Amino acid sequence: MTYIDLGSDTVTKPTPEMREAMARADVGDDVYGEDPTVNRLQEMAAKRLGKEAGLFVPTGTMGNQLCLKLHTSPGQEVVVEERSHMYNLEMAGTAALSGAQAHPVRGPGGILDWNSVAAAIRPRGDTHFAQTGLIALENTQNLNGGTVMSLQAMKEICAHAHEMGIPVHLDGARIFNAATALKIEVADIAAPFDSVMFCLSKGLGAPVGSMVVGPRSLIERAIPLRRMLGGAMRQVGVLAAAGIVALEKMTERLGEDHQKARLLATGLARIPGIDLDPERAPTNIVVFDITATGLTTTEMIVKLKAHGVLATSVDAQHMRMVTHMDVTEGECEAALDVVRRVLSE
Ligand SMILES: *Cc1c(COP(=O)(O)O)cnc(C)c1O
Repeated sequence: MTYIDLGSDTVTKPTPEMREAMARADVGDDVYGEDPTVNRLQEMAAKRLGKEAGLFVPTGTMGNQLCLKLHTSPGQEVVVEERSHMYNLEMAGTAALSGAQAHPVRGPGGILDWNSVAAAIRPRGDTHFAQTGLIALENTQNLNGGTVMSLQAMKEICAHAHEMGIPVHLDGARIFNAATALKIEVADIAAPFDSVMFCLSKGLGAPVGSMVVGPRSLIERAIPLRRMLGGAMRQVGVLAAAGIVALEKMTERLGEDHQKARLLATGLARIPGIDLDPERAPTNIVVFDITATGLTTTEMIVKLKAHGVLATSVDAQHMRMVTHMDVTEGECEAALDVVRRVLSE
């Protein structure tokens, strides 16, 4: 059976151009900083994001965890959104790897503003409280339905945090989706942050890899930590080559994925039993509530799969569908038909 795979944008396969670039890639030992293709990608990523330096890491999770460790000391707190990837999907790395404690806050629809963040910052100078070592934002917000934080909210949070001497990290796994939705450059988003992680895999189509960008001094400190976490790789230019194609050729097309998600969201919102405001799916992720269908998401996932559609869930009530370059508009229409059929069974 061939599936319509709306499980995640991580399922995208490298394009023929990526595979060619991978085969041709000039390589060296990156542990010694001698892989010319990795070096080129790192420079390119830093420039695009408007930062001094970049570091290639195998996964976004490693990129986030590296930054967490760079910005905090054991015993500190990290303010995160309640549904963030760093809090929910990184194996309690905050505690295990950095010895820090996550302090989750919930914004309406996952959208944080300075007020919601400020309420979670611990008072200084009182020996009862852990000190807030870092604020970590996420844009776009995966589990909240690909929602986008406004540039103003990000700038405001960063400015206030910096006044208090607290650094701010951006989990920008899908920062190019955020920039597409906001119609601005990724560098505008990255500007107020002390570090940014973004993924070359997912919507940009590279088979592997994420980038950490920030000041040169931070990246220099990140290199030995990446080694400690097991992420120092050798002739990894073969992977970086695909990342270069991702950055050069794949960022402009993300609007198509957003259009497909809108098609899905609009169709889903019309199906009885599904609760979804299509305005709440502004990028390539659609999260919708199926409580009124009487099905749990686990049951729904099994039924959809039996009819050839792959999807995932956020919790027992909320399904998640993600569009990407390897799924067509026609397939999104077909997926809607399957949802209708499954719910009328
Ligand atoms: C995918 C993702 C990551 C990291 O992903 P890896 O699978 O480790 O590459 C981090 N944050 C968000 C929001 C993500 O969606």
